[in-house]
Amino acid sequence: MRIEILGSAAGGGFPQWNCGCPNCSAVRAGTFPGKARTQTQVALSNDRQSWYLLNASPDLRLQIEATPALCPQTHGRSSPIKAVVLTSADIDQVAGLLSLRELQPLRIYCTPSLRRVLREHNSVFGMLNRVSGQVVWSDIKPGESFPLASADGKDSGLCCEAFSLSSRYPAYVADRSGLGPEEASLGLILSSSSGGRLAYCPAVPAVDDTLLQRLESVDLLLFDGTFWADDELIRVQGQGATAREMGHIPVSSQQGSLRRLAGLRRPRKIFLHVNNTNPMLNESGPEYAQVSAAGWEIAEDGLGIEL
Ligand SMILES: [Zn+2]
Repeated sequence: MRIEILGSAAGGGFPQWNCGCPNCSAVRAGTFPGKARTQTQVALSNDRQSWYLLNASPDLRLQIEATPALCPQTHGRSSPIKAVVLTSADIDQVAGLLSLRELQPLRIYCTPSLRRVLREHNSVFGMLNRVSGQVVWSDIKPGESFPLASADGKDSGLCCEAFSLSSRYPAYVADRSGLGPEEASLGLILSSSSGGRLAYCPAVPAVDDTLLQRLESVDLLLFDGTFWADDELIRVQGQGATAREMGHIPVSSQQGSLRRLAGLRRPRKIFLHVNNTNPMLNESGPEYAQVSAAGWEIAEDGLGIEL
């Protein structure tokens, strides 16, 4: 399995258009000891010919153009991108679908609740089904495994297992009647025919023993690195929600992810979905050193991994 990390920042990217926090300001000034990042986007392939996206970021068009393997390989209209698996209805996970609307056959995997939010509550996504043979929607259920396939049914050699991480729907979902709480936000385990296993968990509110057990079974972990501290946004903005209120376990603190996942031995551990306010983005800072010393990496745009 080949994994390409096309984007690694949380919603808003790094720097974020309206943010003058110390990190964002230093990036703009060219003095930041670290890297700018686009919004989180991962692509996978078993054969390096057919590619499968995990979510669809608002930066997707630029991320595709930055990755030759994802660009058309023939003259005329075509794409190596065969399907998208959605883990939540967050804007930074679904907005990129609108960039895939140009009548290209595509399969989209999501829970029935997410499908309802996108297709019944938000008419703009109707552009994905303007003509027959455009987007095929496939339901996924937490706890079930399914083979990833293209719109025409061609198997990818990749298998996906979805599990529920949170009952939190984004704020724009006003009508929650009929939406399953367990279908709001998912983690994924992707496995390839050659045996490699990846866990993809971009929004994790808490780590319980069941999740720990799951994560010990994988070779690579891409995990929620949104916030360093629970009150990080409040400190930067002077107001706002805590990391936990926003559905993200902070990296630091007694109950943070660094400590909760310290016992994981098997997987290579990489934080992604890192918010622009997170001090661990500063590669000369103590937080970056602490994360590195704990055996973690921080995802960067353009990082490719063979599993
Ligand atoms: Zn910022």
